[in-house]
Amino acid sequence: MDIKDNVLDAVGNTPLVRLNKVVPEGAATILAKCEYMNPTGSIKDRMAAYIIEQAEKEGLLKPGGTIVENTSGNTGQSLAMVAAVKGYRCIFTMPDKMSQEKIDMLKSYGAAVIVTRTDLLHDHPDSYVEVAKRIARDTPNAFYTDQYYNMSNPEAHYLTTGPEIWQDTAGSLDCLVGGIGTGGTISGAGKYLKEKDPDVKIVGADPVGSILKEYFYTSKMGEARPYKVEGVGEDIIPGTTHFEYIDEIIEVSDKESFNVARRISREDGILIGGSGGLAAAAALKVAKDLSADKIVVVLFPDGGVKYLTTFYSDNWMRENRFLDLETVSLDKALATKPGNTPAVVSVAPGATVREAIGLMKERDISQIPVLEDGRSVGRLEEGEIMGQVISDNALLDTRVRDVMQESLPVISSQKNIGEARNYLAKQYSAVLVEEKGAIIGIITKSDLLEFIVS
Ligand code: PMP
Repeated sequence: MDIKDNVLDAVGNTPLVRLNKVVPEGAATILAKCEYMNPTGSIKDRMAAYIIEQAEKEGLLKPGGTIVENTSGNTGQSLAMVAAVKGYRCIFTMPDKMSQEKIDMLKSYGAAVIVTRTDLLHDHPDSYVEVAKRIARDTPNAFYTDQYYNMSNPEAHYLTTGPEIWQDTAGSLDCLVGGIGTGGTISGAGKYLKEKDPDVKIVGADPVGSILKEYFYTSKMGEARPYKVEGVGEDIIPGTTHFEYIDEIIEVSDKESFNVARRISREDGILIGGSGGLAAAAALKVAKDLSADKIVVVLFPDGGVKYLTTFYSDNWMRENRFLDLETVSLDKALATKPGNTPAVVSVAPGATVREAIGLMKERDISQIPVLEDGRSVGRLEEGEIMGQVISDNALLDTRVRDVMQESLPVISSQKNIGEARNYLAKQYSAVLVEEKGAIIGIITKSDLLEFIVS
């Protein structure tokens, strides 16, 4: 029998999974450390379990005590899990940019959540950090976990994340890439890996708007600007970020983070969170500069289910001007066409040219696919056929099959708009969209333009 005594025994030992389709040919191998497979769905389970264990050992947390923390969500969930198993109370503060799902999740574990303003700096009295500290001071028998300054945070990763990566790659990795929030993960795992092999490169990924990258290279405290990716980047320098184990920090925009996350979900089947997208974007840059025999490990701190109403929503992406056409599938693009547009107006190869021209005029379309048994066998283009008819009227009564041009390109509905764009930017006036062997729609140049401008 292989039974865990409680859910805390299921923390860690997450799998390392090769990324396939998103990694270009000739680039280094990228292996994803799938931390979303921890019990609460994030890497923070490791830190939470270890911090509470240490606090108990040091007598800082006693039976019946209350755990207090400022958290972007994942830490809260992990602490709430530990608290539930061990019988503690939990109070969390959380900035209001976090998704509603994250807040609801904490409440589901029985925790109390206090939402604070996102736009306040860490040291403002009403920031989520200062409010948490105040609650910890005012609550009897409270323990403030203090993830930004508690050294048990990086230590948890020194003891677990680092060794697992070393073992699972049999010591053959060349580089570790991860986002920096508290910096606990990359500092702890980085320290372990560098002790094993000083040549392992540790690369941090930092959102545009965070101050960590500038601080790392210049020691200057810049000014933070708002960004949307959650759980990473800072407006302070966390005590748990140990820059001596970091070799490089790569800056990644919200747009790139979200689009890379969406691609990894769609193409490699791993539904990751935004900070995983951020880290993967940085890992892709690193891997492209390394030879194919090198190994890059990237951290995927959490999963995508918490972000279905944010960056996995096309509408949210469009509203925030993050949508990268390359990542929108053709079936979704078809769904945005006005409701009264017929899926495809087509003619049969046996119809006359007169009938085909009549249909094109009636429907005000400038190209028409020729379909036989649901398959595309050719097309007529208004300009081309008109020219021919003007010079030879007799053509009006010939069959479409005798005058038609080659078929419009046929693309699977699961392919992205980027693929359609490649055809439409060149000689084709439209592409046909196919699903399970049948043509289900058409995307013309003007449909694509409409999609882009809306
Ligand atoms: N991604 C997400 C979603 C997180 O919640 C966190 C933790 N804040 C991180 C990445 C960064 O991990 P760390 O704090 O160990 O740097």
